[in-house]
Amino acid sequence: MNIDTEQYQVKQEPFYQPQGNEIALYEAAYQRRLPVMVKGPTGCGKSRFIEYMAWRLGKPLITVACNEDMTASDLVGRYLLDATGTRWLDGPLTVAARIGAICYLDEVVEARQDTTVVIHPLTDHRRSLPLDKKGEVVTAHPDFQLVISYNPGYQSLMKDLKQSTKQRFSALVFDYPPADLETRIVATETGIDPELAAALVKIAAAARNLKGHGLDEGISTRLLVYAANLMDEGIAPREASRMALVDPITDDEDIRSTLHHAIDAVF
Ligand code: ADP
Repeated sequence: MNIDTEQYQVKQEPFYQPQGNEIALYEAAYQRRLPVMVKGPTGCGKSRFIEYMAWRLGKPLITVACNEDMTASDLVGRYLLDATGTRWLDGPLTVAARIGAICYLDEVVEARQDTTVVIHPLTDHRRSLPLDKKGEVVTAHPDFQLVISYNPGYQSLMKDLKQSTKQRFSALVFDYPPADLETRIVATETGIDPELAAALVKIAAAARNLKGHGLDEGISTRLLVYAANLMDEGIAPREASRMALVDPITDDEDIRSTLHHAIDAVF
């Protein structure tokens, strides 16, 4: 089977601002091919970290954004009908196991239960992936590693990973970076003045205090980067902040006006 692995290589070093010793911890986990779970709120740098680690280790990276309609076949593969009959098409997890990629299943808890079960044999000593429909068992390439992301804030009793799945992973816990690091991230990602970046970070701090008091999640680092990009395009700071930091996350009038006050206090 000929798979173009080049397309999965991270070619340029992604900018990644470490928050602690996560790089060393991940490298140790990778050396032993331990499955890794990256935990934390949305937009706090989990995907960027994995992209950076794939680049640093020189390994291909296959990312799958999981959703509730995703089935095991979407991960593993399926038979397709074409003019000559049926043809098997590997899914992204199978491709990753064959070529020795880091397979990053983003928000895996969103996927259906049968999906999480197919990853089990890849996470233990078997390191194998049974393709039931095809009657083949793929033995994972020695470089293959499984990584999942998990947002503890979203979980409900109905939607949580089973202990039997959780207990197959080591975990790195992420959170929004401390203010000085977040300021550096926003300024470096977008090129805006660090003072403006620091002001955006202050707004985020105010919003994050509202979590659980009307907001499900605080303003993410990702949204701060959006606001900074709009400002870099010449949009006035207040307008950019409303567009990127307030309007996407809430429809509640009280929360909106609290956030507008926070914006007006710094710009
Ligand atoms: P998620 O935690 O949802 O996977 P991402 O990794 O996609 O979040 O982060 C969202 C954006 O925030 C990134 O595209 C990047 O611009 C910025 N970002 C967050 N944390 C960092 C970091 N530590 N270093 C560099 N950029 C970061």
